[in-house]
Amino acid sequence: MAEKSTTDIQEILELMREPTESNIALVKKAYAFAQKAHEGEMRFSGDAYFSHAFEASKNLAKFGMDAASIAAGFLHDTLEDGNTDEKTLEKEFGKEIAFLVDGVTKLGKLKYRGLERHAESLRKLFVATAQDARVLIIKLADRLHNIQTLDGHPKKEKRHRIAVETLEIYAPLADRLGMGLLKGELEDYAFPHVFPKEYKQVKELMTKKREDHKKYLEKFHRSLQKELAQHQSSDIKTSYRVKHLYSLYQKLQRKDWDIDKIYDITAIRVITDTIEECYRVLGIIHSIWRPLPGRIKDYIALPKPNGYQSIHTTVFTGDGGIVEVQIRTKEMHHDAEYGIASHLAYKKGLFDRLKPTTNDKEKVIKNKLGWIDELIEWQEQVSENTEFLKELSIDFFKYRVFVFTPRGDTIDMPEDSTPVDFAYMIHSDIGNHMSSAKVNGKMSSIKTKLHNGDIVEIMTNKNSRPSQKWLEYAKTSIAQRHIRVWLQKNKKEN
Ligand code: MN
Repeated sequence: MAEKSTTDIQEILELMREPTESNIALVKKAYAFAQKAHEGEMRFSGDAYFSHAFEASKNLAKFGMDAASIAAGFLHDTLEDGNTDEKTLEKEFGKEIAFLVDGVTKLGKLKYRGLERHAESLRKLFVATAQDARVLIIKLADRLHNIQTLDGHPKKEKRHRIAVETLEIYAPLADRLGMGLLKGELEDYAFPHVFPKEYKQVKELMTKKREDHKKYLEKFHRSLQKELAQHQSSDIKTSYRVKHLYSLYQKLQRKDWDIDKIYDITAIRVITDTIEECYRVLGIIHSIWRPLPGRIKDYIALPKPNGYQSIHTTVFTGDGGIVEVQIRTKEMHHDAEYGIASHLAYKKGLFDRLKPTTNDKEKVIKNKLGWIDELIEWQEQVSENTEFLKELSIDFFKYRVFVFTPRGDTIDMPEDSTPVDFAYMIHSDIGNHMSSAKVNGKMSSIKTKLHNGDIVEIMTNKNSRPSQKWLEYAKTSIAQRHIRVWLQKNKKEN
Protein backbone atom coordinates (compact mmCIF):
# COMPACT_ATOMS: atom_id res chain seq x y z
CA MET A 1 0.00 0.00 0.00
CA ALA A 2 2.80 2.39 0.81
CA GLU A 3 4.88 4.10 -1.81
CA LYS A 4 8.48 3.09 -2.03
CA SER A 5 10.31 5.84 -0.25
CA THR A 6 13.32 7.80 -1.30
CA THR A 7 14.93 10.17 1.12
CA ASP A 8 16.01 13.05 -1.06
CA ILE A 9 15.91 16.26 1.00
CA GLN A 10 15.13 18.18 -2.17
CA GLU A 11 11.58 16.75 -2.16
CA ILE A 12 10.90 18.40 1.17
CA LEU A 13 12.60 21.68 0.37
CA GLU A 14 10.39 22.01 -2.70
CA LEU A 15 7.26 21.54 -0.61
CA MET A 16 8.24 24.17 1.95
CA ARG A 17 6.04 27.19 2.15
CA GLU A 18 8.71 29.56 3.34
CA PRO A 19 11.96 28.35 1.83
CA THR A 20 14.10 31.14 3.27
CA GLU A 21 17.81 30.58 3.63
CA SER A 22 17.63 30.07 7.38
CA ASN A 23 14.61 27.74 7.14
CA ILE A 24 16.35 25.60 4.55
CA ALA A 25 19.49 25.46 6.67
CA LEU A 26 17.44 24.38 9.70
CA VAL A 27 15.62 21.61 7.84
CA LYS A 28 18.85 20.35 6.28
CA LYS A 29 20.50 20.25 9.68
CA ALA A 30 17.61 18.23 11.18
CA TYR A 31 17.75 15.89 8.17
CA ALA A 32 21.44 15.19 8.69
CA PHE A 33 21.03 14.86 12.46
CA ALA A 34 18.19 12.33 12.16
CA GLN A 35 20.00 10.38 9.48
CA LYS A 36 22.95 9.97 11.78
CA ALA A 37 20.82 9.25 14.85
CA HIS A 38 18.89 6.45 13.14
CA GLU A 39 21.88 5.04 11.29
CA GLY A 40 21.68 1.26 11.03
CA GLU A 41 18.16 1.08 12.51
CA MET A 42 15.53 -0.82 10.59
CA ARG A 43 11.77 -0.91 10.59
CA PHE A 44 9.77 -4.15 10.61
CA SER A 45 9.31 -3.77 6.88
CA GLY A 46 13.08 -3.89 6.39
CA ASP A 47 13.19 -0.21 5.38
CA ALA A 48 15.74 2.01 7.03
CA TYR A 49 14.23 3.68 10.10
CA PHE A 50 15.28 7.04 8.78
CA SER A 51 12.81 6.68 5.92
CA HIS A 52 10.03 6.89 8.52
CA ALA A 53 11.40 10.13 9.96
CA PHE A 54 11.73 11.43 6.42
CA GLU A 55 8.13 10.62 5.49
CA ALA A 56 6.73 12.15 8.69
CA SER A 57 8.67 15.31 7.94
CA LYS A 58 7.50 15.31 4.33
CA ASN A 59 3.89 15.02 5.50
CA LEU A 60 4.40 18.15 7.59
CA ALA A 61 5.78 20.00 4.59
CA LYS A 62 2.72 18.88 2.60
CA PHE A 63 0.40 20.17 5.31
CA GLY A 64 2.09 23.55 4.89
CA MET A 65 3.64 23.54 8.35
CA ASP A 66 6.45 25.84 9.44
CA ALA A 67 10.16 24.97 9.28
CA ALA A 68 10.36 24.24 13.02
CA SER A 69 7.68 21.56 12.67
CA ILE A 70 9.32 20.06 9.58
CA ALA A 71 12.62 19.89 11.46
CA ALA A 72 10.88 18.38 14.50
CA GLY A 73 9.34 15.82 12.12
CA PHE A 74 12.81 14.56 11.27
CA LEU A 75 13.75 14.42 14.94
CA HIS A 76 10.49 13.08 16.35
CA ASP A 77 11.75 9.59 17.22
CA THR A 78 15.30 10.43 18.26
CA LEU A 79 14.39 10.89 21.95
CA GLU A 80 12.11 7.87 22.06
CA ASP A 81 14.80 5.59 20.74
CA GLY A 82 17.38 6.99 23.10
CA ASN A 83 19.57 8.15 20.26
CA THR A 84 19.90 11.58 21.74
CA ASP A 85 18.67 13.55 24.75
CA GLU A 86 16.71 16.71 25.24
CA LYS A 87 19.78 18.72 26.20
CA THR A 88 21.56 17.87 22.97
CA LEU A 89 18.47 18.70 20.92
CA GLU A 90 18.14 22.03 22.70
CA LYS A 91 21.78 22.85 22.16
CA GLU A 92 21.66 21.93 18.47
CA PHE A 93 18.19 23.17 17.53
CA GLY A 94 17.00 25.53 20.24
CA LYS A 95 14.25 25.44 22.86
CA GLU A 96 11.29 25.53 20.47
CA ILE A 97 12.25 22.42 18.50
CA ALA A 98 13.39 20.51 21.58
CA PHE A 99 10.00 21.31 23.12
CA LEU A 100 8.12 20.03 20.06
CA VAL A 101 10.10 16.78 19.92
CA ASP A 102 9.70 16.21 23.65
CA GLY A 103 5.95 16.82 23.35
CA VAL A 104 5.60 14.29 20.54
CA THR A 105 7.64 11.76 22.52
CA LYS A 106 5.35 12.22 25.53
CA LEU A 107 2.21 11.80 23.41
CA GLY A 108 3.71 8.57 22.11
CA LYS A 109 3.69 7.24 25.65
CA LEU A 110 -0.01 7.82 26.22
CA LYS A 111 -1.96 4.63 26.39
CA TYR A 112 -5.22 4.05 28.06
CA ARG A 113 -6.33 0.60 29.01
CA GLY A 114 -9.50 -0.44 27.23
CA LEU A 115 -9.05 1.73 24.19
CA GLU A 116 -12.49 1.44 22.64
CA ARG A 117 -14.31 2.57 25.73
CA HIS A 118 -11.93 5.36 26.52
CA ALA A 119 -11.29 6.81 23.11
CA GLU A 120 -12.90 10.12 24.04
CA SER A 121 -10.85 10.39 27.23
CA LEU A 122 -7.66 9.70 25.36
CA ARG A 123 -8.55 12.26 22.71
CA LYS A 124 -9.07 14.89 25.40
CA LEU A 125 -5.93 13.79 27.15
CA PHE A 126 -3.99 14.31 23.95
CA VAL A 127 -5.28 17.81 23.61
CA ALA A 128 -4.61 18.67 27.23
CA THR A 129 -1.12 17.24 27.18
CA ALA A 130 0.01 18.89 23.97
CA GLN A 131 0.82 22.44 24.94
CA ASP A 132 1.19 23.55 21.35
CA ALA A 133 -1.14 22.36 18.57
CA ARG A 134 1.91 21.72 16.41
CA VAL A 135 2.76 18.78 18.68
CA LEU A 136 -0.57 17.17 17.76
CA ILE A 137 0.01 17.79 14.07
CA ILE A 138 3.50 16.25 14.17
CA LYS A 139 2.01 13.24 15.94
CA LEU A 140 -0.62 13.00 13.18
CA ALA A 141 2.06 13.20 10.45
CA ASP A 142 3.90 10.38 12.24
CA ARG A 143 0.74 8.28 12.51
CA LEU A 144 -0.13 8.81 8.85
CA HIS A 145 3.10 7.16 7.76
CA ASN A 146 2.72 4.39 10.35
CA ILE A 147 -0.78 3.52 9.15
CA GLN A 148 0.30 3.66 5.51
CA THR A 149 2.98 1.08 6.25
CA LEU A 150 0.99 -1.00 8.73
CA ASP A 151 1.07 -4.08 6.46
CA GLY A 152 4.76 -4.37 7.27
CA HIS A 153 4.03 -4.93 10.96
CA PRO A 154 4.41 -8.62 11.82
CA LYS A 155 1.98 -8.83 14.76
CA LYS A 156 -1.68 -9.08 13.85
CA GLU A 157 -2.86 -7.97 17.27
CA LYS A 158 -0.70 -4.89 17.17
CA ARG A 159 -1.81 -4.02 13.64
CA HIS A 160 -5.38 -4.16 14.84
CA ARG A 161 -4.70 -2.01 17.88
CA ILE A 162 -2.89 0.65 15.85
CA ALA A 163 -5.67 0.74 13.27
CA VAL A 164 -8.43 1.01 15.90
CA GLU A 165 -6.51 3.77 17.63
CA THR A 166 -6.23 5.58 14.31
CA LEU A 167 -9.98 5.44 13.73
CA GLU A 168 -10.92 6.32 17.30
CA ILE A 169 -8.29 8.84 18.32
CA TYR A 170 -6.23 10.24 15.46
CA ALA A 171 -8.81 10.68 12.69
CA PRO A 172 -11.26 12.51 15.00
CA LEU A 173 -8.40 14.75 16.13
CA ALA A 174 -7.52 15.56 12.52
CA ASP A 175 -11.19 16.35 11.98
CA ARG A 176 -11.30 18.68 14.98
CA LEU A 177 -8.27 20.47 13.58
CA GLY A 178 -10.15 20.88 10.29
CA MET A 179 -7.61 18.74 8.41
CA GLY A 180 -10.09 16.97 6.14
CA LEU A 181 -7.62 15.43 3.74
CA LEU A 182 -5.59 13.92 6.56
CA LYS A 183 -8.69 12.63 8.34
CA GLY A 184 -9.82 10.85 5.17
CA GLU A 185 -6.42 9.28 4.59
CA LEU A 186 -6.01 8.08 8.17
CA GLU A 187 -9.44 6.46 8.04
CA ASP A 188 -9.04 4.85 4.65
CA TYR A 189 -5.70 3.27 5.53
CA ALA A 190 -7.02 1.98 8.89
CA PHE A 191 -10.36 0.76 7.53
CA PRO A 192 -9.26 -2.60 5.98
CA HIS A 193 -7.33 -3.53 9.14
CA VAL A 194 -10.28 -3.00 11.46
CA PHE A 195 -13.22 -4.07 9.27
CA PRO A 196 -11.78 -6.23 6.45
CA LYS A 197 -15.13 -7.67 5.34
CA GLU A 198 -16.94 -4.36 5.33
CA TYR A 199 -14.03 -2.74 3.54
CA LYS A 200 -14.31 -5.19 0.66
CA GLN A 201 -18.07 -4.73 0.54
CA VAL A 202 -17.89 -0.92 0.45
CA LYS A 203 -15.14 -0.99 -2.13
CA GLU A 204 -17.20 -3.16 -4.47
CA LEU A 205 -20.28 -1.00 -4.02
CA MET A 206 -18.24 2.11 -4.69
CA THR A 207 -16.65 0.75 -7.86
CA LYS A 208 -19.99 -0.30 -9.27
CA LYS A 209 -21.70 2.96 -8.37
CA ARG A 210 -18.91 5.05 -9.78
CA GLU A 211 -19.27 3.36 -13.13
CA ASP A 212 -23.02 4.09 -13.10
CA HIS A 213 -22.37 7.68 -12.12
CA LYS A 214 -19.63 8.37 -14.56
CA LYS A 215 -21.76 9.04 -17.61
CA TYR A 216 -24.04 11.53 -15.83
CA LEU A 217 -21.17 13.18 -14.13
CA GLU A 218 -19.04 13.75 -17.20
CA LYS A 219 -21.93 15.14 -19.20
CA PHE A 220 -22.99 17.41 -16.35
CA HIS A 221 -19.43 18.58 -15.84
CA ARG A 222 -19.07 19.58 -19.50
CA SER A 223 -22.38 21.49 -19.50
CA LEU A 224 -21.44 23.24 -16.25
CA GLN A 225 -18.08 24.34 -17.62
CA LYS A 226 -19.80 25.72 -20.72
CA GLU A 227 -22.40 27.62 -18.66
CA LEU A 228 -19.76 29.11 -16.36
CA ALA A 229 -17.65 30.20 -19.33
CA GLN A 230 -20.67 31.96 -20.83
CA HIS A 231 -21.13 33.84 -17.57
CA GLN A 232 -17.58 35.13 -17.82
CA SER A 233 -16.43 32.93 -15.05
CA SER A 234 -13.47 31.43 -16.82
CA ASP A 235 -11.23 31.68 -13.78
CA ILE A 236 -13.49 29.28 -11.92
CA LYS A 237 -12.07 25.80 -11.60
CA THR A 238 -14.13 22.63 -11.50
CA SER A 239 -13.11 19.12 -10.58
CA TYR A 240 -14.43 15.78 -9.30
CA ARG A 241 -13.96 14.45 -5.89
CA VAL A 242 -14.64 10.87 -4.82
CA LYS A 243 -15.89 10.15 -1.34
CA HIS A 244 -13.44 8.49 1.01
CA LEU A 245 -14.29 4.83 1.59
CA TYR A 246 -14.57 4.93 5.36
CA SER A 247 -16.75 7.98 5.21
CA LEU A 248 -18.99 6.14 2.73
CA TYR A 249 -19.06 3.14 5.07
CA GLN A 250 -20.25 5.32 7.95
CA LYS A 251 -22.93 6.83 5.77
CA LEU A 252 -24.07 3.44 4.50
CA GLN A 253 -24.62 2.36 8.08
CA ARG A 254 -26.89 5.37 8.62
CA LYS A 255 -28.81 4.68 5.39
CA ASP A 256 -29.56 0.95 5.87
CA TRP A 257 -26.81 0.06 3.42
CA ASP A 258 -28.87 1.49 0.56
CA ILE A 259 -26.28 3.09 -1.70
CA ASP A 260 -29.00 4.69 -3.82
CA LYS A 261 -29.77 6.95 -0.86
CA ILE A 262 -26.29 8.42 -0.98
CA TYR A 263 -25.84 11.24 -3.44
CA ASP A 264 -22.35 12.42 -2.73
CA ILE A 265 -20.25 9.37 -3.60
CA THR A 266 -18.82 11.50 -6.34
CA ALA A 267 -19.27 15.24 -6.43
CA ILE A 268 -18.41 18.16 -8.62
CA ARG A 269 -16.31 20.82 -6.97
CA VAL A 270 -16.35 24.44 -8.06
CA ILE A 271 -13.52 26.61 -6.77
CA THR A 272 -13.87 30.38 -7.08
CA ASP A 273 -11.87 33.44 -6.11
CA THR A 274 -14.50 35.21 -4.05
CA ILE A 275 -17.53 34.45 -1.89
CA GLU A 276 -19.79 36.50 -4.20
CA GLU A 277 -18.85 34.18 -7.04
CA CYS A 278 -19.85 31.15 -4.95
CA TYR A 279 -23.40 32.46 -4.67
CA ARG A 280 -23.42 33.50 -8.32
CA VAL A 281 -22.40 29.98 -9.37
CA LEU A 282 -25.13 28.54 -7.14
CA GLY A 283 -27.64 30.79 -8.91
CA ILE A 284 -26.44 29.70 -12.35
CA ILE A 285 -26.67 26.03 -11.40
CA HIS A 286 -30.15 26.31 -9.90
CA SER A 287 -31.45 28.25 -12.91
CA ILE A 288 -30.52 25.34 -15.18
CA TRP A 289 -30.77 22.20 -13.04
CA ARG A 290 -33.53 21.59 -10.54
CA PRO A 291 -32.22 21.18 -6.99
CA LEU A 292 -33.35 18.35 -4.73
CA PRO A 293 -35.42 19.86 -1.93
CA GLY A 294 -33.76 19.98 1.46
CA ARG A 295 -30.28 19.32 0.10
CA ILE A 296 -28.99 22.88 -0.14
CA LYS A 297 -26.50 23.56 2.64
CA ASP A 298 -24.87 26.92 3.10
CA TYR A 299 -21.81 26.26 5.21
CA ILE A 300 -20.39 29.58 4.08
CA ALA A 301 -22.96 31.54 6.05
CA LEU A 302 -23.08 28.87 8.73
CA PRO A 303 -19.70 27.11 8.97
CA LYS A 304 -19.40 23.67 10.57
CA PRO A 305 -17.93 23.63 14.08
CA ASN A 306 -14.49 22.68 12.77
CA GLY A 307 -14.51 25.72 10.47
CA TYR A 308 -15.51 23.95 7.25
CA GLN A 309 -17.02 26.32 4.69
CA SER A 310 -18.66 25.49 1.38
CA ILE A 311 -22.05 25.56 -0.33
CA HIS A 312 -23.47 22.12 -1.10
CA THR A 313 -26.37 21.48 -3.42
CA THR A 314 -27.68 18.39 -5.15
CA VAL A 315 -29.37 18.67 -8.55
CA PHE A 316 -31.18 16.48 -11.05
CA THR A 317 -29.07 16.27 -14.20
CA GLY A 318 -32.19 15.96 -16.38
CA ASP A 319 -31.28 12.59 -17.83
CA GLY A 320 -31.98 10.46 -14.78
CA GLY A 321 -28.88 11.31 -12.76
CA ILE A 322 -28.40 13.13 -9.49
CA VAL A 323 -25.19 15.07 -8.78
CA GLU A 324 -23.87 16.88 -5.73
CA VAL A 325 -22.04 20.15 -6.32
CA GLN A 326 -19.75 21.79 -3.75
CA ILE A 327 -18.93 25.45 -4.23
CA ARG A 328 -16.21 27.26 -2.29
CA THR A 329 -13.41 29.77 -2.61
CA LYS A 330 -9.78 28.77 -3.08
CA GLU A 331 -9.05 29.75 0.47
CA MET A 332 -11.93 27.71 1.87
CA HIS A 333 -10.77 24.76 -0.21
CA HIS A 334 -7.29 24.95 1.20
CA ASP A 335 -8.65 25.31 4.73
CA ALA A 336 -10.93 22.30 4.26
CA GLU A 337 -8.02 20.12 3.27
CA TYR A 338 -5.30 21.38 5.58
CA GLY A 339 -7.27 23.09 8.35
CA ILE A 340 -5.37 24.68 11.14
CA ALA A 341 -2.03 23.73 9.60
CA SER A 342 -2.51 26.32 6.90
CA HIS A 343 -2.86 29.07 9.49
CA LEU A 344 0.06 27.94 11.57
CA ALA A 345 2.25 28.49 8.55
CA TYR A 346 1.99 32.24 8.61
CA LYS A 347 1.18 32.69 12.26
CA LYS A 348 4.14 32.03 14.43
CA GLY A 349 2.73 29.40 16.71
CA LEU A 350 -0.82 29.31 17.86
CA PHE A 351 -0.34 31.49 20.86
CA ASP A 352 -0.15 34.65 18.80
CA ARG A 353 -3.70 34.15 17.70
CA LEU A 354 -4.97 35.10 21.13
CA LYS A 355 -3.76 38.65 20.78
CA PRO A 356 -6.55 41.04 19.84
CA THR A 357 -6.65 41.94 16.18
CA THR A 358 -8.26 44.62 14.07
CA ASN A 359 -7.44 42.88 10.81
CA ASP A 360 -10.66 41.50 9.26
CA LYS A 361 -9.08 38.45 7.75
CA GLU A 362 -7.52 37.50 11.04
CA LYS A 363 -10.85 37.95 12.75
CA VAL A 364 -12.45 35.47 10.37
CA ILE A 365 -9.75 32.91 11.09
CA LYS A 366 -10.14 33.43 14.81
CA ASN A 367 -13.87 32.90 14.65
CA LYS A 368 -13.55 29.79 12.56
CA LEU A 369 -11.13 28.19 14.90
CA GLY A 370 -12.90 29.05 18.12
CA TRP A 371 -12.39 25.57 19.39
CA ILE A 372 -8.66 26.00 19.15
CA ASP A 373 -8.87 29.31 20.96
CA GLU A 374 -10.50 27.55 23.86
CA LEU A 375 -7.72 25.04 23.84
CA ILE A 376 -5.12 27.77 23.85
CA GLU A 377 -6.80 29.49 26.73
CA TRP A 378 -6.58 26.32 28.78
CA GLN A 379 -2.98 25.99 27.81
CA GLU A 380 -2.20 29.49 28.96
CA GLN A 381 -3.66 28.56 32.29
CA VAL A 382 -1.54 25.45 32.29
CA SER A 383 1.61 27.48 32.21
CA GLU A 384 0.50 30.14 34.66
CA ASN A 385 -1.62 28.26 37.10
CA THR A 386 -0.56 25.06 38.77
CA GLU A 387 -4.17 24.32 39.57
CA PHE A 388 -5.03 24.41 35.92
CA LEU A 389 -7.14 21.29 35.99
CA LYS A 390 -9.88 23.19 37.76
CA GLU A 391 -9.98 25.62 34.87
CA LEU A 392 -10.48 23.03 32.18
CA SER A 393 -14.01 23.02 30.93
CA ILE A 394 -14.00 19.30 30.28
CA ASP A 395 -15.62 17.50 33.20
CA PHE A 396 -13.48 14.50 32.58
CA PHE A 397 -10.39 16.34 33.66
CA LYS A 398 -11.84 17.99 36.68
CA TYR A 399 -9.87 17.09 39.74
CA ARG A 400 -8.07 14.24 38.01
CA VAL A 401 -4.41 13.89 37.08
CA PHE A 402 -3.10 11.48 34.48
CA VAL A 403 0.43 10.30 34.96
CA PHE A 404 2.39 7.58 33.28
CA THR A 405 4.54 4.64 34.16
CA PRO A 406 7.88 4.50 32.33
CA ARG A 407 6.24 1.87 30.10
CA GLY A 408 3.50 4.29 29.11
CA ASP A 409 0.55 2.93 31.08
CA THR A 410 -1.79 5.62 32.28
CA ILE A 411 -2.53 5.96 35.97
CA ASP A 412 -5.53 8.10 36.72
CA MET A 413 -5.45 9.74 40.18
CA PRO A 414 -7.07 12.57 42.12
CA GLU A 415 -5.35 15.94 41.93
CA ASP A 416 -2.59 16.65 44.46
CA SER A 417 -1.59 12.99 44.37
CA THR A 418 2.07 12.23 45.03
CA PRO A 419 4.53 9.44 44.16
CA VAL A 420 3.35 7.74 47.37
CA ASP A 421 -0.14 7.40 45.88
CA PHE A 422 1.29 6.37 42.57
CA ALA A 423 3.37 3.58 44.11
CA TYR A 424 0.37 2.14 45.95
CA MET A 425 -1.78 2.42 42.83
CA ILE A 426 0.65 0.11 41.08
CA HIS A 427 1.01 -2.43 43.89
CA SER A 428 0.99 -2.41 47.70
CA ASP A 429 4.40 -4.13 47.73
CA ILE A 430 5.87 -1.36 45.64
CA GLY A 431 4.34 1.20 48.00
CA ASN A 432 5.59 -0.58 51.11
CA HIS A 433 9.15 -0.77 49.77
CA MET A 434 9.42 2.55 47.98
CA SER A 435 12.81 4.17 48.54
CA SER A 436 12.67 7.11 46.13
CA ALA A 437 10.93 8.43 43.03
CA LYS A 438 11.81 9.94 39.70
CA VAL A 439 9.45 12.38 38.03
CA ASN A 440 10.15 13.01 34.34
CA GLY A 441 13.54 11.41 34.75
CA LYS A 442 14.59 13.57 37.73
CA MET A 443 14.97 12.41 41.32
CA SER A 444 12.06 13.97 43.22
CA SER A 445 10.72 14.02 46.72
CA ILE A 446 8.03 11.42 47.35
CA LYS A 447 5.70 14.23 48.46
CA THR A 448 5.96 16.03 45.10
CA LYS A 449 2.55 16.91 43.69
CA LEU A 450 2.12 15.16 40.37
CA HIS A 451 0.87 16.91 37.26
CA ASN A 452 -0.89 15.84 34.11
CA GLY A 453 1.49 14.05 31.77
CA ASP A 454 4.24 13.39 34.34
CA ILE A 455 6.15 10.16 33.90
CA VAL A 456 6.76 8.60 37.30
CA GLU A 457 9.21 5.91 38.20
CA ILE A 458 9.33 4.32 41.66
CA MET A 459 12.55 2.90 43.07
CA THR A 460 12.21 0.17 45.68
CA ASN A 461 14.51 -1.34 48.25
CA LYS A 462 13.70 -4.37 50.35
CA ASN A 463 14.76 -2.49 53.51
CA SER A 464 12.58 0.55 52.87
CA ARG A 465 9.53 0.99 55.10
CA PRO A 466 6.52 3.32 55.22
CA SER A 467 6.58 5.95 57.95
CA GLN A 468 3.94 7.90 59.84
CA LYS A 469 4.78 10.93 57.69
CA TRP A 470 3.64 9.11 54.54
CA LEU A 471 0.04 9.39 55.72
CA GLU A 472 0.32 13.14 55.17
CA TYR A 473 1.83 12.71 51.71
CA ALA A 474 -0.81 10.28 50.50
CA LYS A 475 -3.97 11.76 49.01
CA THR A 476 -5.72 8.57 47.98
CA SER A 477 -7.58 6.41 50.45
CA ILE A 478 -5.98 3.31 48.92
CA ALA A 479 -2.50 4.49 49.84
CA GLN A 480 -3.55 5.69 53.29
CA ARG A 481 -5.22 2.39 54.03
CA HIS A 482 -2.17 0.36 53.03
CA ILE A 483 0.14 2.60 55.04
CA ARG A 484 -2.05 2.33 58.14
CA VAL A 485 -2.27 -1.44 57.85
CA TRP A 486 1.49 -1.68 57.53
CA LEU A 487 2.17 0.68 60.45
CA GLN A 488 -0.21 -1.22 62.74
CA LYS A 489 1.16 -4.59 61.81
CA ASN A 490 4.68 -3.33 62.27
CA LYS A 491 3.88 -1.89 65.72
CA LYS A 492 2.52 -5.24 66.90
CA GLU A 493 5.51 -7.14 65.59
CA ASN A 494 7.87 -4.75 67.33
MN1 MN B 1 7.46 7.82 14.54
